[in-house]
Amino acid sequence: DAIAPNDIEKLDVIGHGNGGTVYKVRHKRTNAIYALKVVHPDSNPITRRQIRREMDILRQTDSPHVVQCHGLFEKPSGDVSIVMEYMDLGTLDTLLKNNGTFSEPELASVARQVLNGLSYLHAHKIIHRDIKPSNLLVNSNMEVKIGDFGVSKIMQRTLDSCNSYVGTCAYMSPERFDPESYGGNYDGFAGDIWSLGLTLFELYVGYFPLLPSGQRPDWATLMCSICFGDPPSLPDGATAEFRSFIECCLKKESSERWTAAQLLTHPFLKG
Ligand code: ADP
Ligand code: MG
Repeated sequence: DAIAPNDIEKLDVIGHGNGGTVYKVRHKRTNAIYALKVVHPDSNPITRRQIRREMDILRQTDSPHVVQCHGLFEKPSGDVSIVMEYMDLGTLDTLLKNNGTFSEPELASVARQVLNGLSYLHAHKIIHRDIKPSNLLVNSNMEVKIGDFGVSKIMQRTLDSCNSYVGTCAYMSPERFDPESYGGNYDGFAGDIWSLGLTLFELYVGYFPLLPSGQRPDWATLMCSICFGDPPSLPDGATAEFRSFIECCLKKESSERWTAAQLLTHPFLKG
């Protein structure tokens, strides 16, 4: 059943984003641990809109590869909160920083789980729009789940193009910047696949692939490299299957990029 504000006690802060604060909390009666995302009433209107969007999406999703929601509430003080399952290993971003790069078999497992999540979301007409290592949550069963739906979109009939510059620029696909050149049949779903391709690449090499290692991202360099550069290719040492998988995710022309359902049949995931 849904968890109410008085049922829980805050233990620690586990994340600070643009969006508000994420706490580790304990359910007083059962001792179970959850994560609680809170946005305060004095936070900016964009943040407040984002948590409402996230609430709308979590209310309607139910997949083992999407972070599970256990309660949504708004306090009289104006705080808006989401109770979620607690993912005890944090995010793929923290795993990369603490444990180093991922092996191909580890990445195949990550890819399979995220693709199962994306194929679920896309089948329900939801585009995540901010797939990146720090929005993919991990627990000690090595389950990977998609989180942070702050800029996600539920598709109606037409594409809301004026609202397409949301998310983290670095992981955005070419057609998000330039739909005329790269957006044959642009529907938005393929953007999540591009972001997943960059994410897996980064977890393999240990740096963001569109910038020389260590360089700080700036908007102009990034946009040029996304739109005018060739898609990055993996270093020597990667297997042919992994190389091909990444190529299928990073096709610049969005209509040639494989869908989540197609990628789930790729030989890289067969092992
Ligand atoms: P923001 O919009 O602030 O980026 P996120 O939902 O991405 O919000 O959460 C920020 C950070 O909080 C994440 O990068 C992660 O470290 C942590 N976090 C979020 N949700 C959970 C969860 N369910 N379990 C564990 N940690 C979480
Ligand atoms: Mg985030």
